[in-house]
Amino acid sequence: MGAPPPISIRCECGEARAVPYGATWTCEKCGRRWDTHQIPATEYLARVRRMRRFRVELFGLLALGIGVFVPLILFVSSGLILVAGMISFFFFIWYMPFWRRRVRRAAADAPTWELHPE
Ligand SMILES: [Zn+2]
Repeated sequence: MGAPPPISIRCECGEARAVPYGATWTCEKCGRRWDTHQIPATEYLARVRRMRRFRVELFGLLALGIGVFVPLILFVSSGLILVAGMISFFFFIWYMPFWRRRVRRAAADAPTWELHPE
């Protein structure tokens, strides 16, 4: 599901850059070198997996809803489209904000790594 998210590095001089894991970045302003290898791969991957699980959950639920309701509407009763509409409505007004809050909280709880310039 897409490339692993980049790591945001804030240089001591104030410059910031999103760098892919495994890359090094030389700050254009002050010349400090930042090496993302200083982050243990296991910690980085654990974080990537945690954030990925949220997307899997969201798309899983959407796929489940479509998988259940499309055949019901097509083969059982077109009236069920109202039920599907109601469920989608609650999905978007209740579940989506709940989901976003959890993603935000997980992102805030995620470890921040202290890199040291070389
Ligand atoms: Zn700098």
